Amino acid sequence: MSKHKIVFLGPPGSGKGTQAELLAEKLGIPAISTGEMLRAAVDEGSDLGDRVKGVMERGELVSDEMMAEVVKDRLAKRDAQQGFLLDGYPRTAPQADTLEGILEDREGDLDHVVYLEVPEDELVTRMMSRGRDDDTEEAVRERLRVYRELTEPLVEHYRAEGVLRTVDGHRTIEEVEVAILLAVASEAQDA
Ligand code: AMP
Repeated sequence: MSKHKIVFLGPPGSGKGTQAELLAEKLGIPAISTGEMLRAAVDEGSDLGDRVKGVMERGELVSDEMMAEVVKDRLAKRDAQQGFLLDGYPRTAPQADTLEGILEDREGDLDHVVYLEVPEDELVTRMMSRGRDDDTEEAVRERLRVYRELTEPLVEHYRAEGVLRTVDGHRTIEEVEVAILLAVASEAQDA
């Protein structure tokens, strides 16, 4: 099987996590969720966990430097050598640069950046209903603000690189799953 290097991009509550798991399983590559990794670190009470706990509870972003370490270590593991699916990274322009640097040291660029579009009022509803510790109403609002300010500009960045695959995420899980499979099966499906 060819190597797949995929990034999932989209606002919090867009269904990235769910869809990333489904696609990664289909392709036989690891779904790497930085949010899940950080939540696990918090639950374990590791050094990293202690340092990021407050930031996450407020809906802010963990520093680019700390995230660079987390992602470099994870992508260096054996299971990520035959491809990977990143869910929740990169989230800022410097993080996109870091990822490009990591990929330069391996061969080739990203194959697809799957961008899940969902209307804003639907996002708030979805986030408030999943009941996670870091999903208080205030944190949810802050995460959307941070997304718009720091992460959304990456859409244009990846569009310019020709790897953006825009998918309408305001549908059932099954419908979105099919749309994503079609998008990554063709070379350029940017709607
Ligand atoms: P997520 O599950 O992807 O929504 O991530 C949950 C929280 O983890 C975010 O609100 C951030 O505080 C933190 N986080 C996850 N990924 C990143 C990242 N790439 N950069 C900075 N913070 C992150």
